[in-house]
Amino acid sequence: SEPKKANFIHAHIDADLAEGKNEGRVHTRFPPEPNGYLHIGHAKSICLNFGLAEKYGGKTNLRFDDTNPSKEETEYVQSIMDDVHWLGFDWEDRLFYASDSFPKLHAFAVQLITDGLAYVDDQDAETISNQKGTPQKPGIESPFRNRSVEENLDLFKRMTAGEFNEGEKVLRAKVDMASPNMHMRDPIIYRIMEAHHHRTGDKWCVYPMYDFAHGQCDYWEGITHSICTLEFEVHRPLYDWFIDHLKDSEYRPRQIEFSRLNLTYTVMSKRKLLELVKDKHVNGWDDPRMPTISGLRRRGYTPESIRNFSDKIGVTKVDGMTDVSLLEFSVREHLNKTAQRVMGVLNPLKVVITNYPEGQVEELSCVNNPEDESMGRRAVPFSREVYIERDDFMENPPRKFFRLGLDREVRLRYAYLIKCNEVIKDEEGNIVELRCTYDPESKGGKSSDGRKVKGVVHWVSAGHAVKSEVRLYDRLFSDETPDAHKDVDFKEFMNPDSLKVLKECYLEPFVKDSKPLDHFQFERLGYFNMDPDSTPEKPVFNRTVPLRDSWAK
Ligand code: ATP
Ligand code: MG
Ligand code: MG
Repeated sequence: SEPKKANFIHAHIDADLAEGKNEGRVHTRFPPEPNGYLHIGHAKSICLNFGLAEKYGGKTNLRFDDTNPSKEETEYVQSIMDDVHWLGFDWEDRLFYASDSFPKLHAFAVQLITDGLAYVDDQDAETISNQKGTPQKPGIESPFRNRSVEENLDLFKRMTAGEFNEGEKVLRAKVDMASPNMHMRDPIIYRIMEAHHHRTGDKWCVYPMYDFAHGQCDYWEGITHSICTLEFEVHRPLYDWFIDHLKDSEYRPRQIEFSRLNLTYTVMSKRKLLELVKDKHVNGWDDPRMPTISGLRRRGYTPESIRNFSDKIGVTKVDGMTDVSLLEFSVREHLNKTAQRVMGVLNPLKVVITNYPEGQVEELSCVNNPEDESMGRRAVPFSREVYIERDDFMENPPRKFFRLGLDREVRLRYAYLIKCNEVIKDEEGNIVELRCTYDPESKGGKSSDGRKVKGVVHWVSAGHAVKSEVRLYDRLFSDETPDAHKDVDFKEFMNPDSLKVLKECYLEPFVKDSKPLDHFQFERLGYFNMDPDSTPEKPVFNRTVPLRDSWAK
């Protein structure tokens, strides 16, 4: 694969390797919580973690961070695995679930209690939170902070046995109520939850907090570099505190933070994406307008385009906004090199070529991809009746309109020069058909007498075309930062025109043999792919992106 851009994490790893840390191993993990589908932000993290292992000859684990039973579902687990594979990465036999470590985490909690480093608190969450106070002055110690080891062991045992209700008791690490870092002020490490877990069922009624599970799982899996987003920087001292009390050799995992991806005109949090799905603002997690990996796939994005995008945006420590047009650029760039060209007419206007013999069909040889000769050529049928794009005709065009007009000539791509002689209208004055003549000497597009015809338009033979539905997408939000407005819900900024369905489009017969997700360039119109909604009777195509950035100023 292409060489990856250097980033600050490489410098950290190079230094660790130079110091001989962790026997020179590089082992990363991608740790999604299975509470939704993966989005393009996750793709950045996947490319980064698997990319590091690739660069250093290391390994990457896939770990489901499933410590919160109330929000997690098996459907999400499957979709996450599918998406990581589709992006082109493989965890091989290194699939882990944080929940598989519940027994070890519980034993570690018992060890902390035994060492006088954890205690059961009877206060409710709000009281505990209030006692933490502000970073400027020390917090208030819980009246239960100095319970004896024996009493703590007994209470935690009874919490685990289900003797108490949710919220009645929590287990807290005994760290430092005066620490300037609020996460070090005796954080809660276990809570009671009467919830069914997607893997452990009803076995547990106490569950570890994220901070108590994450680093320990890193440790047990042999992770060397635990890459996470910037908001966890302040959790790092706590991460290290747990590892200090857990480790029994020189080996230790190290947390490194980078800035998360934010995209303009997009919301990225799973909670908000779930809201769009649940409230039916979109047609499911894989709606082609969604920034989910499954949505992008269905929209026609390729794994290469997403990986190239991830590499292009780089990895930094500074939070910012990435222009969504950079993502669109990446897919355009890749599909330009790889996509099969076809002609398709989205908004058809019938053209009858009156001097072309009735019943005659010619096979014209067309280039499949001018960027890749190895893709060869295909035969495209031409006949007396064709469709062109309505927009490519004007009855009284201005001088600079280089397409078809009455008494004007235009070139039909790959075929002939045609001239419009007559415009047929219905009773209301709508144009329903054009009567044209062709120049039989102009096959391939060149005139025999040297006259210049500037315009070239695409077309399909009416009798051979495949009638299809085409779905045109625009940005889901019309505001650049839909979730950055203090008092306005992000859904207020939804673009009402984000989906336009065209029911009567005519495509070249070539598309007949395509499968869902196959990619095309419809000449002059953009990149499209076949939607899984397609049936043999009604193919459906999605526009991935137009050929040019229509939003560019
Ligand atoms: P969300 O807020 O969307 O629910 P999350 O961080 O809670 O995201 P996780 O499933 O915990 O989602 O994320 C798995 C991994 O992906 C984490 O390591 C997280 O840091 C990373 N990740 C999540 N969102 C982004 C993003 N926007 N950019 C880069 N990495 C991200
Ligand atoms: Mg998370
Ligand atoms: Mg989350």
